[in-house]
Amino acid sequence: MHNIETKIVKIEDLYNDSIDQPCEILKNGGLVAFPTETVYGLGALATLPDAVKKIFQVKGRPGDNPLIVHIDSADKIREVAYVDDRYLEIIEKITPGPITFVLRKRENIPYEVTAGLETVGVRIPAHPVAQRLSRCAGPIAAPSANLSGKPSPTDAATVIEDLRYRIECIIDAGESAFGIESTIVDLTRTVPLVLRPGPITMEELSTIFGAVEYYQPRQDEKPLAPGMKYRHYAPEKRLQMVEPSELANFIDKDVLILCSKETKESFLKNVDNVYVLGEFERPYTIAQNLYRSLRYLDKSKYEEGVIEKFPEYGIFFSIMNRIKKAISKG
Ligand code: AMP
Ligand code: MG
Repeated sequence: MHNIETKIVKIEDLYNDSIDQPCEILKNGGLVAFPTETVYGLGALATLPDAVKKIFQVKGRPGDNPLIVHIDSADKIREVAYVDDRYLEIIEKITPGPITFVLRKRENIPYEVTAGLETVGVRIPAHPVAQRLSRCAGPIAAPSANLSGKPSPTDAATVIEDLRYRIECIIDAGESAFGIESTIVDLTRTVPLVLRPGPITMEELSTIFGAVEYYQPRQDEKPLAPGMKYRHYAPEKRLQMVEPSELANFIDKDVLILCSKETKESFLKNVDNVYVLGEFERPYTIAQNLYRSLRYLDKSKYEEGVIEKFPEYGIFFSIMNRIKKAISKG
């Protein structure tokens, strides 16, 4: 399984460069890593169960963690799932974009995609290459294109690091804009339930849907988004999280300090062991760099890492959700 010749297809013009090769590979049951605006995905044609099974093998992904089905436009949602008119209208208004809807699946979506569930996560990515690929090949089942347990890849070089020689094709179309995975909203209940916070914030969701609830699994409960029970996004080195003012305790230690530009300027001027995540005033830059910074920590000369604690509103809420999963237990 680790000796496949991986085609690297570089795309400069997102709208016009040929994607014929990756499209054919998908149709023939191969795996293709492709860019989206959230993170890179590892795709198989959703209607080919044997191709879908390979995704789990290649990633080392637990069999009970379902994949997301990517389609190119909201008018095709009823080809893969059941949705009532009221929600379809909303979905048409707010997509394409970094949000996944959990809906009752149609019969043509195999249980290999949904890990046995009667529901399916459906997403309409805004990235032109992801859209074109699905328009050409059909619905694409994909999780993030990393080895299970590692932070999701936000560029092709990272996908190559994890998956070269394991899959048929990797499309390289530059960096993902958001850098964290899509928001997941379960629309099969009376009130929309947010299973995973993401680029579309809780505040935005409340405006879109009227009311939404945020799902937090109890310790003793099987989580609704099966992926939530796994330790995710984690660097191999120890990572802890502290208040911005406490980061100065780590100056000149064998520790990489991950923080915002503003925090560096306030507390850590002229300090070397600092990695700037982005700007507090432009928090989407922090989301975009978060996973890259975790992978950088593992490759760096430092023994461990410490990351700034952020507030929990807007996109920071989603950033903090990922940081909490990345910090070491105990
Ligand atoms: P990834 O894109 O790698 O984050 O993986 C897909 C995520 O979507 C996982 O966390 C899954 O648990 C979640 N997901 C996919 N389909 C469903 C579904 N039908 N119900 C709940 N969660 C889902
Ligand atoms: Mg993932």
